[in-house]
Amino acid sequence: MNPKTDRIQNLLEFIDQSPTPFHAVREMTDTLSSKGFIELKETEAWKLVPEGRYFLTRNDSSLIAFAVGSKPGFKIIGAHTDSPNLRLKPQAGYTKSGYQQLGVEVYGGVLLSTWTDRDLSLAGRVILGGKKKPQLIRFEQPLLRIPQLAIHLNRDVNKKGLLLNEQNHLPPIFSLQKKSTPDAILKKMVAQKLKCRPADILEMELSLYDTQPGAVAGAEGEFIFSGRLDNLASCHSALHALAESTKKDPATRVIAFYDHEEVGSETAQGAGSPFLKDVLERISLTEANSREEYFRALAKSFFISADMAHAVHPNYSDMHDGQHMPIINGGPVIKSNAGQCYATEGVSSAWFESLCKKAKVPVQKFVVRSDLGCGSTIGPITAANLGIRTIDVGNPMLSMHSIREMSGTKDHEFLIRVFKEYFKP
Ligand code: ZN
Repeated sequence: MNPKTDRIQNLLEFIDQSPTPFHAVREMTDTLSSKGFIELKETEAWKLVPEGRYFLTRNDSSLIAFAVGSKPGFKIIGAHTDSPNLRLKPQAGYTKSGYQQLGVEVYGGVLLSTWTDRDLSLAGRVILGGKKKPQLIRFEQPLLRIPQLAIHLNRDVNKKGLLLNEQNHLPPIFSLQKKSTPDAILKKMVAQKLKCRPADILEMELSLYDTQPGAVAGAEGEFIFSGRLDNLASCHSALHALAESTKKDPATRVIAFYDHEEVGSETAQGAGSPFLKDVLERISLTEANSREEYFRALAKSFFISADMAHAVHPNYSDMHDGQHMPIINGGPVIKSNAGQCYATEGVSSAWFESLCKKAKVPVQKFVVRSDLGCGSTIGPITAANLGIRTIDVGNPMLSMHSIREMSGTKDHEFLIRVFKEYFKP
């Protein structure tokens, strides 16, 4: 009756420990280090050994790891480390109607109403003076709340929906204290947690997150309820597939996890950056010292863009195309779009289907309704950047971009199995 496997437990813990991309990358580099992967620095010369396993990060929020193969060619899985959320403004604090509040910006396509009436807290990265490294911070206790207006003061809310103005209605309530300003209180709390002086803090990059831990749910434990399943669940699947694929493979196996997908990817560490291109070229050059070999390797390579997919919602089933209705625990979804919002084409789709067959995993297909706009992923961006054959796939989920999303326990196992099959020689 309890299918709460170690793997799902491990996924839930990973997501709970990863309220921000900085935390997700640190969790994953810790896992990679524990599995024998060696850290590389972009600023240093690389000496790679055959079958060596390495990783590197950019801005502490994007991560690439790889296992060196014996011949030119890369098998790559890409995903993203960021999720839509609310971020503190640089000078966040102010007082209004007796309450201390913190101003926030909307990061990515947040389903705003889901952030109300939750037990929220803060996490992120703090830049300290002197030669100290940036520090990660996460307050575990609830500190903040965005209270909804009582129904008595908003009588039409159930008929008209909850309309939230980003500037006026999202700043959370932080305190009732009168002796100090909210910015000073926050700085003092951060300093206490990092064991430094408030004056040492130069910058804070803090985001709000939901303190409720993820859970296995449903009558038979079929479901996962958690924040940030999009897209930490895909990162988790690919990371474990790479870490557990220890057989020699002629191809170099790579995972590339980017920050900033939710805001368009055009940053120094996003999928639109040369991060992956640089790493692949450096791998080729350290192996063969030939640029031609790099281009030959790219021509033999394959990129799986892994990002969550829209499962059909039983209460809104007409929002899906009738022939393309992925269900939770029905297996990974191949996403395609005539307008190339997804990078999938016929050859890559057929190849992925046969990979699923080999792994004994069911597979589903998604195309958006013809009268609706299509979402996108890092797939087309990477395909355009590298010219590598690419496919867009991902596990089906509901409540995408809600503070608490929903996916399937079986699907997570399925995806790891397919990725492990991919990383087999
Ligand atoms: Zn996503």
